[in-house]
Amino acid sequence: MDLIIRDARLRQGDGLIDIGIAGGRIEAIAPRIAATAVEELDAAGHLTTPSFVEPHIHLDKVLTAGRARENATNAFEEAIAIMREVKRAYTVEDVADRATRVIHWLVGHGVTLVRSYVDVDTIVGLTALEGVLAARERCRRLADVELIAFPQEGIWCDPGTDELMRRAVESGADVVGGMPFAEMIESDSDRHIDFAFALARRFDRDVQMHVDESDDPGARTLHAFAVAAIKAGWHGRVTADHATALAAYDDNYAARVMSLVARARMNVVVLPTKLMRGGVRDKEPRRRGITRVKELLAAGVNVAYGQDVIQDGFLPVFGTGDPLQVGFLLAFAAQFSSRASIETLYDMATVNGARIMRRPDYGLEVGRRADLIVVAAPSVQEAYRTQAPRLAVVHDGRVVARNGRIVSD
Ligand SMILES: [Zn+2]
Repeated sequence: MDLIIRDARLRQGDGLIDIGIAGGRIEAIAPRIAATAVEELDAAGHLTTPSFVEPHIHLDKVLTAGRARENATNAFEEAIAIMREVKRAYTVEDVADRATRVIHWLVGHGVTLVRSYVDVDTIVGLTALEGVLAARERCRRLADVELIAFPQEGIWCDPGTDELMRRAVESGADVVGGMPFAEMIESDSDRHIDFAFALARRFDRDVQMHVDESDDPGARTLHAFAVAAIKAGWHGRVTADHATALAAYDDNYAARVMSLVARARMNVVVLPTKLMRGGVRDKEPRRRGITRVKELLAAGVNVAYGQDVIQDGFLPVFGTGDPLQVGFLLAFAAQFSSRASIETLYDMATVNGARIMRRPDYGLEVGRRADLIVVAAPSVQEAYRTQAPRLAVVHDGRVVARNGRIVSD
């Protein structure tokens, strides 16, 4: 064996077990593995699970707060305007350095699978993509990072973006992104979604979009995205992020849209850092900018959660990239009060995210890839309650971080 984790406590089952790893794979799971290994890791009865998955972050934007004015209104539109100013000054090296720092944070917190958006538009061209691609290469032994080409400025209201999107996918973006709500009129939002599916079909890619990141009950891009996914036959290869307008719909229309989301086997990512800007135009009571999490789960939809932003024009002060912190926020926002719901919350940070990234070899089973974490807690509930340190992070069968620090590159 290359590595044996001793006395690990799994989420299910009493008693402690050993996990034997060779060639990057889990070779054995048993109460006591007699074999020896090049490296042994004593989990000492702590919770040991598959590693965290971050399905939605913007690695090109992170750590740019302070480079521009602060968002005086706290409104989404002002954040977009601030980021326009900031990204004009991007260089490949600048983006690569910031993205690398945050990938290190993520890995320290136990994240080894990442999907990051990168802006693709006529302001940055492909600079953000090239920067995050460079960071991915620097960190390739620490985590798997997939990139989503993201036309944040819209496609039809930013002429030239369609060609840049094609070039982005040819140049290394793994997933076709979208921001249909950025368009000036609904017919252009529909064309935006159609463009994304045409590009996805041409290059055989998944599609993941920001949809209806708004409190506007008239927003319709989740509905349009689900219908387009069904028509394109892209079932299970589509992910809708935010979908906050869903919470503003009346219950009948919301039920109709959620049934289409389920039919498309569309994943949904909820981003609780959005609490900072949810209902920003409301007096009281104030909407929170969180989609219908429990109802989507009850409808059988695969829901994960993500960090979204860290210290940029959208969220200048906060953000650590720690899924336990983000999950803690979500538990309160979505009112996950029971012990059983906290298990669901942990699924949303792990296996549900892996399903979005379509990683069948993810999980703590023999034959699966050895991407594991040891959390200094006896249970998932205690991990969230105490925001427990990550004692060790294993990626591809190697210990890559201990106590939050990278130990291997
Ligand atoms: Zn986002």
